Amino acid sequence: LKREGFPTVPDTTWQDIGGLEQVKRELKEKILEPIRFSKLHEEFGASRPNGILMWGPPGCGKTLLAKAVANEAGINLLPVMGPELLNMYQGESERAVREVFQRARNVAPCVIFFDEFDSLCPVRRKGSDSGSKTTIVNTLLTEMNGFTKRDDVYVIAATNRPDILDPAVTRPGRFDTLLYIDVPDHLGRVSIFQARTKNGTCPCLASDVNLEEVSRLCDNFSGADCDQLVYLASKEAIREVINSSASCTTPAPVNDEQPVYRFVAKRHF
Ligand code: ATP
Repeated sequence: LKREGFPTVPDTTWQDIGGLEQVKRELKEKILEPIRFSKLHEEFGASRPNGILMWGPPGCGKTLLAKAVANEAGINLLPVMGPELLNMYQGESERAVREVFQRARNVAPCVIFFDEFDSLCPVRRKGSDSGSKTTIVNTLLTEMNGFTKRDDVYVIAATNRPDILDPAVTRPGRFDTLLYIDVPDHLGRVSIFQARTKNGTCPCLASDVNLEEVSRLCDNFSGADCDQLVYLASKEAIREVINSSASCTTPAPVNDEQPVYRFVAKRHF
């Protein structure tokens, strides 16, 4: 049974992430500094096993940010989907949580990224089945409290539903850094389009495309929506290239003067 991904150093960089400047700054301070200057933090008594909880609507960059943190620090990221740790047999979910931390220690330094975290730590309510998840929460907190500075394991969690999280996990010294990852605003979308089109150099862009204008047409788009729009535009442009060169034996040269390289955003609304 595959419960989580393989730990690897991801190739996502800060440059791949549009907008979210304030969040990036906070992540640098709250997690990258403790990773880079772990000895200094230890000497000054500031090494704490606290985790970072990112929350907000889906598709707005939480996973990307976790990858960029690990990339920037040059350390492994161990991605874990919360629901995949759940097991109906008593004690098995707790064992799975302990195994995750053990795996992370084995490949330390390592960032564990728990996605859909609310599935593991729902608020405790009498009479609901979340009672059985209490022990999962306790196991998780015990594992985090058990960190020693030599463990070099860091934890980032993400959720769309912070309101259903057990408050025990957000107490000081646990997941006490909460970062809200919002839907991008106009400038955020421009920045995502720039990141996604390699600063406007992608051949799917015609020379007359104005990314600010495109962004104005994309109110309320999430980062994932912006990504999908560029993907669809690229596919459209590729199809036009293939069609226009169907009678040729060699593919048409890629150059911006060709009318086929259109950014076809508007067609997709
Ligand atoms: P979920 O809550 O559903 O897990 P998420 O917040 O973790 O979503 P991501 O997986 O990080 O969202 O983003 C999904 C995709 O959307 C990314 O792979 C990327 O292509 C695009 N995307 C989202 N936000 C951004 C951003 N700020 N900059 C560039 N691309 C983005």
